[in-house]
Amino acid sequence: MVKAQNKRIDELIRFIKEGSQTDIPQELKSCTCNLNPYLECLNPDILHHLNLDTKTIDFPKVFGDVRFVCLGGSDARMEKFANFIIGEIGLKLSIAVHLRNISADGHRYALFKVGPVLCASHGIGGPSISIVLHELIKLVHHAKCQDPVFFRMGTCGGIGVEPGTLVITSQPLDGQLRPVYEVVVHTQPQLRPALLDQALAKELIALSNPCEDGYDTVLGKTLCANDFYEGQSRLDGAFCGYNPQKKMCFLQQISQMGIVNMEMESTAFAALTNQAGIRAAVICVAIINRMEGDQINSPASVLKDFDQRAQNLIARYMRKVLFKCDEDDIETCQCDDAPGCH
Ligand code: URA
Repeated sequence: MVKAQNKRIDELIRFIKEGSQTDIPQELKSCTCNLNPYLECLNPDILHHLNLDTKTIDFPKVFGDVRFVCLGGSDARMEKFANFIIGEIGLKLSIAVHLRNISADGHRYALFKVGPVLCASHGIGGPSISIVLHELIKLVHHAKCQDPVFFRMGTCGGIGVEPGTLVITSQPLDGQLRPVYEVVVHTQPQLRPALLDQALAKELIALSNPCEDGYDTVLGKTLCANDFYEGQSRLDGAFCGYNPQKKMCFLQQISQMGIVNMEMESTAFAALTNQAGIRAAVICVAIINRMEGDQINSPASVLKDFDQRAQNLIARYMRKVLFKCDEDDIETCQCDDAPGCH
């Protein structure tokens, strides 16, 4: 019975693939790779947590123009980013219109669309970001988005860097310092390479300007922990099985390896985007220097200012891509459409 079903599914996949090749050769193709072959048999495909499905929504029509997919932890941060990016990329929204959270009825993640930019929340930790990434990757696949770039923006604990420093991840490492994301399938751990686009990371760092920005932007390795407390060697969790000396020894050891920050989503984000052949970057602002403490005690106004920093850098990148002019040239740039390009 199962064998017969599998055969039927394989036939369907072949039929769909061959059919699409012969009937509409000039149609845009999905840019994703290595995706689940059984997706083609789902009619509709229900993206449960985003509250979207391919039956009631024409994905290429609604999402086909998406070029940037930006993820951040909380719904509020992503709504703020969506409103911020409207002006940054030269769009206008009538004061009578509010951005709508497309996935509100899913009650899990927030999703906003601002022209070519999708903004999604991802919650905390690898499992949470992995679920929304599965669905966002399927979204860009079904919509046939052309070479979309994914960003994760967030906060992190800095290792030997000043609070407020922006960290672009060169290589995420898991809690065992491996450059992988571990997924347990049928009881067996599978290690997926957690790789980010190095050229994109360099392009982003080139867009930073410490003198004008008033803070540093650095490129370095990121330790992606499964937890905020013991997983990040904090002394202020509900439980703690080590002492302050052990903690400092660990932080110094990872610092010597080139690790400049700790957060909780980068390996899952890097591994899933890499598997799908999607260019991606992780940009996080350090809200504490972990060499100096564990508790986040900066005032809310300072944290709000820190939060804006990754958003500014991503906006610069988007303007560069969309309007094809460098920030340095913006004052004198000839392109009429770009905000600031006069
Ligand atoms: N996020 C983390 O995962 N760790 C920190 O220390 C701060 C933000």
